[in-house]
Amino acid sequence: MSLNITITTRLTARCASQHFRARNLTCKRRRFFSSVFSGPWTVKRRAGREDESPALPTLTREYHPTPISHEKSVHRPVYAYPAKTIAVSIDENPRTFDTVFLRDSCTCPTCVDPDSRQKLFQTSDIPQEIEGKARTVQDEKRGWVVEVEWQNDVPGYGPEHRTTHSIDWLRRALTTEVELRGGVRYDDRVFWDRDTITKNNKWIDYADWMSHDTALFDALTHLNRYGILFLKNVPESETSVVSIASRIGTLKDTFYGRTWDVRSKPKAENIAYTPRFLGLHMDLLYTSNPPYLQLLHSLRARTPGGESFFSDAFHAAQKLDKQSKAHFRTLCTYPVTYHYHHAEHHYHYTRPTIELHPHPKNSEPTNLALHRVNWSPPFQGPFEVRIAGDSQVVLPTYLAAANAYEKLLSNEENLFEYKLNEGECVIFDNRRVLHARRAFDVTKGERWLKGAYVDDDVFFSRLRVLQERLEGRWVADGVVRPVV
Ligand SMILES: [Zn+2]
Repeated sequence: MSLNITITTRLTARCASQHFRARNLTCKRRRFFSSVFSGPWTVKRRAGREDESPALPTLTREYHPTPISHEKSVHRPVYAYPAKTIAVSIDENPRTFDTVFLRDSCTCPTCVDPDSRQKLFQTSDIPQEIEGKARTVQDEKRGWVVEVEWQNDVPGYGPEHRTTHSIDWLRRALTTEVELRGGVRYDDRVFWDRDTITKNNKWIDYADWMSHDTALFDALTHLNRYGILFLKNVPESETSVVSIASRIGTLKDTFYGRTWDVRSKPKAENIAYTPRFLGLHMDLLYTSNPPYLQLLHSLRARTPGGESFFSDAFHAAQKLDKQSKAHFRTLCTYPVTYHYHHAEHHYHYTRPTIELHPHPKNSEPTNLALHRVNWSPPFQGPFEVRIAGDSQVVLPTYLAAANAYEKLLSNEENLFEYKLNEGECVIFDNRRVLHARRAFDVTKGERWLKGAYVDDDVFFSRLRVLQERLEGRWVADGVVRPVV
């Protein structure tokens, strides 16, 4: 990390004498070693212009020299002027932070309860007139931090209140938007066809999954990258799938139950419970929050047929975008209705086929931009909107796009086929990886899978916890950062 930190503050029309009034303030519980005069920071000045303040060419109008070079006392808590924004040089780029943002994200013990970790003031309590004065200090644990003293602070906070943010934290605050989503690395996902997943497919032993956090972290990281993972040597028990899912976290309950069985039965209410061919699909798209992970544990695999196959819908979406921007755009916008309509349950939800993250850094939908795919033909209901000829995208346009996408999804080169043996379990991302099943012959044996779901929040929570515990770091923008 660069230790060349420059703090500049933006002046308001406030008298400099106020600044000197602050000099006798001392911070209670001071844990910091002030390094204002010995630390490896510099104040950037334009060459030969001693009276000019830190070099921020676009922000010079209200800048004023900071009086640091005249001060010798290491006890002096603050040396800059109060300001509405605070500029920090991060990796030698000047970045400006709003004081409201810095104040709102204060994690001192008076702002965030150390035990419950809950916030003790409201954002709406922050006065519009709040101003901050910043300097750099070195913290024993966090390295270089920016320390801010407040004027017009939240009511109830005294003049001794200080907010500190590490340079790493500030850097992360700037980069979370795209490279990281909620602290989980996102930019190293691998979109796969049959050859790629065959080469990179991962198997993990049930015992390792259950008892070693390092193995679990390794497996979940793989699952985050590829969207599919296999377990072997799973005990023959109806509760094994609960044990497997519980290592990630709490199971998602649905009207199918906390766990459910996939075995053929007469007059099945769901096509999954018949021996028929079941095409590529995702589960529960007729709900507002479909399951993220799906687990299928094979308890019986004694029929001819019944092979599972999988297709990476993100890979196909990327291909479709290359093939036809118009088709891609159609699938991002045209609303498709899914439903589950039976006597006791009537679920109904309408969504486009491809959902994107906002991607301000790229005009093209890259790896980072793809958020979810919704594709589940067996559970589709009648179209409800944009069916008339005068709307923006009409049904024939959707039909052409859906047909092109389906060809990519079910192309042999993109299908990964595998027949789960007894004692094996597959876990896959139900918002990305499509699953399907070949027909099987019920007269010649038994086929029985035990299934469960886990929500995305639960999965990402476990991944973040393991990452912080085992690696003590965040991974942002391809660069490893220490946890802050
Ligand atoms: Zn605070």
